[in-house]
Amino acid sequence: MAEADDDDPDAAAALNLKYDDTLMQAAFSEARTALEAGEVPIGCVLVKDNIVVAAAGNDVNRTKNPTAHAEIVCVNKIFEQRTPVEEVSGARNNLVLSHFN
Ligand SMILES: [Zn+2]
Repeated sequence: MAEADDDDPDAAAALNLKYDDTLMQAAFSEARTALEAGEVPIGCVLVKDNIVVAAAGNDVNRTKNPTAHAEIVCVNKIFEQRTPVEEVSGARNNLVLSHFN
């Protein structure tokens, strides 16, 4: 199975990866909200067909749960929303993560 390689446009194209500033800004927004809440500034949006189906930031400190990383919270939101699996399957290449400090 091919691995994503940011420096290889052919590999990125094969995985249908592309940079999307709007989606990255959405992930940054989640990171910013996390930072303002005293969390490590990491945000995540899960995207399917260019639509954000879940968004979250780190929530480790508030929940005192060391696994409450942005991406885990984001995936849990999918389950909480009872989003049909077919709506998010294939979204694995559309996980947008950001962090800044
Ligand atoms: Zn993480």
